[in-house]
Amino acid sequence: MEAKKGQKERGAMPDACPYAARCGGCDYQGIPYEEQLAIKQREMETLLKGLAPVRPITGMENPTHYRCKVHAVLSRTRKGEVVTGVYEAGSHRVVPIKGCRIENRKADRIITTLRRLIPEFRYRIYDEDAGTGLLRHILIRVGGVTGQILVVLVAASTILPNKNAFVRALLAEHPEITSIVLNVNDRQTNMVLGKRDIVLYGTGTIEDRLCGMTFRISPQSFYQVNPPQAERLYNKAMELAHLTGKERVIDAYCGTGTIGLIASRHAAEVIGVELNADAVKDANANARRNQVTNARFLCADATRFLVQMAEEGEHADVVFLDPPRSGSTPEFLSAAAKLAPSRIVYISCGPDTLARDLKLLRELGYKAEEAWPYDLFGWTKHIETVCLLTHS
Ligand code: SAH
Repeated sequence: MEAKKGQKERGAMPDACPYAARCGGCDYQGIPYEEQLAIKQREMETLLKGLAPVRPITGMENPTHYRCKVHAVLSRTRKGEVVTGVYEAGSHRVVPIKGCRIENRKADRIITTLRRLIPEFRYRIYDEDAGTGLLRHILIRVGGVTGQILVVLVAASTILPNKNAFVRALLAEHPEITSIVLNVNDRQTNMVLGKRDIVLYGTGTIEDRLCGMTFRISPQSFYQVNPPQAERLYNKAMELAHLTGKERVIDAYCGTGTIGLIASRHAAEVIGVELNADAVKDANANARRNQVTNARFLCADATRFLVQMAEEGEHADVVFLDPPRSGSTPEFLSAAAKLAPSRIVYISCGPDTLARDLKLLRELGYKAEEAWPYDLFGWTKHIETVCLLTHS
C-alpha cells in the first residue's frame, strides 16, 4: 500500500523490489522518497542535538539508478548457470540479481551481457571454499558527466584465456565501454579487489567532471558513487570554507584530490593526504590534468601526517576532512586544532562518528556552526553531511 501511495512521489519505486527480502541493500524499501528524507533529517537532528544546528537535507532530483559504481559477485547455481548478485547479509551465499533500481542502467546491462559471455568463453567461476576457478567479481564505474565506463573483472589468476576475443565480444555489444581491466585477486579474502591491475583495453581508468574540473579515477581509488549529489555537497563545502585566495588549506582523507583541487582555485596552497597510494597518484595526476600548481598530495596516514605537522609548528587556515565511516581519530583532531585553522569543514558519511568527533572538536575550541545533510544514497540509511566548525 505504501509503495502505491509512493508512485506519485519523486522517483518512487513502481512496486516492491523482488530482491528486497534477501538482498538487504536497501533499508527503505516501500518508503516514499520524501519520507526517507524526512527520516534522515530527523535522525541528524537527534544525533547532533546540542552540537550543531541541522539545515534541511538536500535530496536527489531522481533517486533511482543513481549508483555510478556497481559491484556484482559472480557465482553459479547447482545446475551450473552463471549468476551475478550480492552476498546475502551475514553470509557468503549469493542472491542472484538481474537488475537493480538504484544502480546505473548501463552498468546493469553490461553485467547482463557478461552473464552470457562468461559461459560462452567457458570461463570458470571462482569457488570460494575450494579456492578453484577464475572469475570472482565484476566492478563497473561510470563517469556521471563524461559517461566513460570502466569494467573491472576480478579474477584469481593473471591469465584470462582468449582475452582479445573476449574484449572484442564485450565491446561489440557495448561500444560505450571505454576501458576494461583484469584485477588479480588470488587471495582467500572478502576484499573485492586485489592489488594488481592488468589493463585489457583503454587507459585502465575513467575520467569524470565535478565542479568544473576533470578527475581521473583508478579502479582502486575512492570516488563518490553519486556524482551529481557529490557536486552539490562539495559546492556547499566550498561555500562554508569562505576561501579568499590567501589560505593554506589541508585536504585530509583526500582520495583522488577532489575537494583539495576544487579548493585550490580559491586558495594559496593545498596539501592533501591520503592512505591509498593509487588514489594519491590519481590526485597528483588530477592536479596536472587541471593545470593546478598550488596543490600537492601525499601518501600517508592522515593522523600521522597531521600530528607531524603540528609538532613542527605548522599552521593551516582551513582544514577539510572527509574520513571514512569510522570517522577521524582523537589524535588527528587535536593535531588539527594545533594547526589553528579559523575554519574546519568536516565532510562525513558516518553520522555517529561525526557526532563523536564534533564533541571532541568542541573541547578543542571548535564550535560546529551548521550541518548540511545531503542524500547521496537514496533507499539506504546512509547519510552524508558537511559541517562547518569555527574557532570559538
Ligand atoms: N575526499 C575524497 C575521499 C573521501 S573517502 C572524496 O571526496 O572523494 C575517504 C578516504 O579516506 C578514502 O580515499 C580512503 O582511502 C582514505 N583513508 C582511509 N583511512 C585513511 C587514513 N588513516 N589516512 C588517510 N586516508 C585514509
